[in-house]
Amino acid sequence: MKYRHFAPYFLVKKGIHGVGVFAAADIKKGEILRELTGEMLDHPTRTSIQIGKNKHIEDEMGGLINHSCQPTARIDKKNHSLVSIRNIRKGEEITFDYNENEEAMASPFVCQCCGKYIMGKKGMPYQKRSLVKSE
Ligand SMILES: [Zn+2]
Repeated sequence: MKYRHFAPYFLVKKGIHGVGVFAAADIKKGEILRELTGEMLDHPTRTSIQIGKNKHIEDEMGGLINHSCQPTARIDKKNHSLVSIRNIRKGEEITFDYNENEEAMASPFVCQCCGKYIMGKKGMPYQKRSLVKSE
């Protein structure tokens, strides 16, 4: 597998919890790390990031960012950007809290740091409308 480089600030590589995005230089708290751009969807996918009600963006780098319950960044929904929430040292992983950002995840999983089920704020996985209706 070939990993893309989001030079000069980020490296995409294999970490402890699989492929993730890592700081290639020291980053200060409050910096805009990336403006999210890409296809806008009305539903979540495994790699999309929620930026509003029924608004999910497929950003090339965003889709590679891992979840953490002690994240180093967050999603600024108003400005469609990824922002550091503390100083990040070179080599540290860029993460955000999926449970905090997403309403309902397309692909829930068990958090590797705490064993908590990560499904999104609603506490239940996203289901297509047709599936919800048939219940
Ligand atoms: Zn956790």
